[in-house]
Amino acid sequence: PMRVFSGIQPSGGMHLGNYLGAIRKFVELQHQYECYYCVVDMHAITVWQEPEKLREQTFHIAAAYLAAGIDPEQAVVFHQSGAHAHAELAWIFNCVARLGWLDRMTQFKDKAGKNSERASVGLYTYPVLQAADILAYKATHVPVGEDQKQHLELSRDIAGKFNHDFDKPDFFPLPEPLIKGPGARIMSLRDGEKKMSKSDPSDNACVFLTDEADAIAKKIKKAKSDPDALPSEPDGLENRPEAKNLVGIYAALSGKSEAQVLSEFGGQGFGVFKPALAELVVEKIAPIGAELRRLEADPGHLQGVLRSGAEKASAVADPIVREVREIVGLLV
Ligand code: ATP
Ligand code: MG
Repeated sequence: PMRVFSGIQPSGGMHLGNYLGAIRKFVELQHQYECYYCVVDMHAITVWQEPEKLREQTFHIAAAYLAAGIDPEQAVVFHQSGAHAHAELAWIFNCVARLGWLDRMTQFKDKAGKNSERASVGLYTYPVLQAADILAYKATHVPVGEDQKQHLELSRDIAGKFNHDFDKPDFFPLPEPLIKGPGARIMSLRDGEKKMSKSDPSDNACVFLTDEADAIAKKIKKAKSDPDALPSEPDGLENRPEAKNLVGIYAALSGKSEAQVLSEFGGQGFGVFKPALAELVVEKIAPIGAELRRLEADPGHLQGVLRSGAEKASAVADPIVREVREIVGLLV
């Protein structure tokens, strides 16, 4: 049977990229499959987080899940640190994954920067914990943005090597990424070559789900673009990363293809396109933001949702990890 797992780090405010690349798909999948949606707090601490803020951000992600339409009765919504199987399986996977595999992870290089000796060991081994997140449930499908493709391949490699080393060919499924459609890779509003990220220090790089309508409009108006009119065909967006990104956001939110958007706006400049885009973003995002803020005001409720989710999650993951311990030869 198909089983879905995905997670979001409480490392900052939820933005348009997280919504289009991840949460929006989570909502669709919950009705068809058994879904586990996690607030991956142990991933967030791979870079420094103020403890009080981390707790707030954990509630923020939980609130965003619910505000976007995830129903905690349909899907299991929980915090990673609340289900101990993740950390336990991650250790075992640290002993399955090879250094050479992790050395190839481009996100570590991006996040650690030039002075990578000063990055935490956790940041380096983060994709191994991610493999454990998924495989602790034997999840088969993982809805994520484009940036997670390489990590998903690593999860498959780890699952395959475990199955092979312990001669259990079908123990872990090889999880498939679900990365598709417009919105799988939203770029920063300040730099069309950089993805939109929670951890981006510039406030103007992201549209946050909690931004008020006027803030959204202002950010879109100020978004980096170029002086040319929009082309009438998608080919014309090549080598125009900022234009491509803004058209892509319009397409993803409107449900139209890039070609359809360009047949509407081709020949027009950003003076016309940006206000139309701002209006669309406000229409789609502001209601979610309002609900998110409402939910955030009651952290007690969110904590209850996460705790009961963590219990449900553990009831599935603990027996799987117990079996792993047995297979590896650890005493159970
Ligand atoms: P951080 O900067 O802390 O890594 P992030 O914005 O990259 O934060 P994550 O929590 O790492 O967010 O990722 C959560 C989900 O959102 C993942 O599925 C990821 O692929 C997706 N995602 C993140 N950024 C984008 C983006 N710019 N476009 C589309 N999807 C994205
Ligand atoms: Mg990220």
